[in-house]
Order: sequence, then C-alpha cells, then structure tokens
Amino acid sequence: MKSRSLPGVWFVLGVCLCLLGSLLSAAEVNVYSARKENLIKPLLLQFAEQTDIKVNLITGKADALLQRIVSEGEHSPADLLITVDAGRLYRAQQAQALQPIDSKVLKDSIPGQYRDPAGYWYALSLRTRPIMYAPDRVSPEDLSTYEALVDPTWKQRICIRSSNNIYNQSLVASMLAHHGESEALAWSRGLVGNFARSPQGGDRDQIRAVAAGQCDLAIANSYYLGKMLTSGDTAQRSAAEKVRIFWPNQEGRGVHVNISGAAVARHSKNRASAIKLLEFLVSDDAQRWYAETNFEYPVKAGIRPSEMLENWGKFKSDILSLHQLGELNAQAVMIMDRAHWK
Ligand code: FE
Repeated sequence: MKSRSLPGVWFVLGVCLCLLGSLLSAAEVNVYSARKENLIKPLLLQFAEQTDIKVNLITGKADALLQRIVSEGEHSPADLLITVDAGRLYRAQQAQALQPIDSKVLKDSIPGQYRDPAGYWYALSLRTRPIMYAPDRVSPEDLSTYEALVDPTWKQRICIRSSNNIYNQSLVASMLAHHGESEALAWSRGLVGNFARSPQGGDRDQIRAVAAGQCDLAIANSYYLGKMLTSGDTAQRSAAEKVRIFWPNQEGRGVHVNISGAAVARHSKNRASAIKLLEFLVSDDAQRWYAETNFEYPVKAGIRPSEMLENWGKFKSDILSLHQLGELNAQAVMIMDRAHWK
C-alpha cells in the first residue's frame, strides 16, 4: 500500500508547488493614484522589477478616486490609494475606504505627526505652504507670520485661492488647532479684508498674479514655484523668477506643512503586496526620487531635498499632528464661510 501511494504523494506535492509558483508569479497590486502617471510610475516600475509584483496603475482626480473606491465597495480592486493632503486622507478614512496598517518600517521611517495615529494613512512627502512675495515691492523684513498678514499694511495686497480648496482648508484648520475658533475666525476675516481680488484660479495663478503686480503677496504651495521655475513655458519661468519664498512663523511654530500620502484600501485583496509597496515608497532611494520629482520634501529624516529646494533655505516646520487637519476640516470650512472667504 505504502509503496503504491508514494508516487501519488509526489504528484500532489508537485501540483501544489506548481500552483504556489503560479500564485507567487501572479502577485499584483492595484494602485489608485491622484498623482499624475509621470510623478509615480517610474517608482512603481522599479518596485515591480525588484519584487516581481505586478503593479496596475489607475490615475484620476483625488476626490473622484475616493468616490470610486467607496462606490465599488467590497468589490473594489483598489489596494493602495495615493493622494495628497492630510485632510483628504482623513476624509477617505471617515468614508471607511481605508484599513489600518501596523508596520515597523513605516513607523520607523515616518515621524509620528505625518501618519495617522491609528495607522490608516502614511505620508510619502512633505509640502510646505509658505508666503510668496514680490521682492521689488516687499521687503522680507516686513514679513513675519501668517498671523501678521491681517495687518492693515497688507490691505488689497494679498492673493490666495478660494476656500473650497483643501490646501486652504487645512491651513485654516492649523490656525484652529493653534489658536482656537474665535482667533481663527478673526484671522480669516482679517485676511479676506486684505485680499487684492476675489479668489480665483489655483496656486500657480496666485504666483502669476504676484509676478504681474496684481498683488504683492501670495500664499501658495512651494512645489508650484519649483514646477514653474523648471517649466518649458517661458512665461511661467519668467513669472516664477519674479517671486520669492518667505518662510513664516520661524520664531514660533514654523511654516504650515501638509503631505502627500498613501493608504491601504479597506477591501484590498492584495494587502501584503500593498504594504510592501508602501514600505518601498519610504525607502531612501524612493524618498529621494519621489520628493525631487514633485519638488516636495522627503518625509523620512536624513534624506536631502533637491538642490533647488536646498537653495530656498532651511526652515522650521509646524509639527502639528496632521490628523488634526482632518478632524478640524468641517469647522475650518464653516469659519471660512463666515469670513466670506469665497
Ligand atoms: Fe497641488
């Protein structure tokens, strides 16, 4: 009996190994990315090469991608969501589109304020939102803090985009976190009172408006200036060259910082691969490339930013725990509304 069943055992074992092999080689991970393909794909290809895990990439607008994950429900093929702004990652978590991840690699690589306390999302890069100014009309000595922008000296001199933009909502949420509701409201009202024009366009448009003399100051994310300075479009380049960065609140809490980040989707079918990819994205080389390509700052300590960013100077960052930006988002939107921030 024994000797006859032996070939059978080998056969079964062979089939198992074969199946295991095909399962292993079929490993894949589906990425939904709000970052454009050229800003993320080279990294994903490198990951695929290193791990033999196939990466399928879907790109789209941040809010539309989240909506898609939610409406796909438990059948969603999404494994990893890559998006921008802590406020938005918080929204994704509130919409029950994410699952918590406990990873020592991620915890060791990403400072506590730049990841969700319960592990629902992790930062991949840092984005600063400083003051930008026209050096021919503004002396940096006259600038100090976000708070000081409500001073009457800046009447009709400030450009900033509208309140429906999450970057500004997060900025006001940081004001709320630091100063409470009444001060955040007074600040928003003061800032609106100093607007040079009714909010219009994106961050690049605010930088252009400063260059064109429509306003003297803007608040905008610094990577836009980097993109404009290296643009193939001469008009964008020459506009950006007329604008300088000022790092506010350096004597106090530091410049307002936000993140790009990633999270494992709640109904991920390839959880282990998704975590592996997330861990890969905080490796030293990936951090350097990702931050540099996007004109952002690496989230991992000890990685140098690109040369251009180094030339913008060192600065102190607000160390506010960014999940608070999410928690305070609704209140921030209400305050901006009350301040008539269009
Ligand atoms: Fe942006």
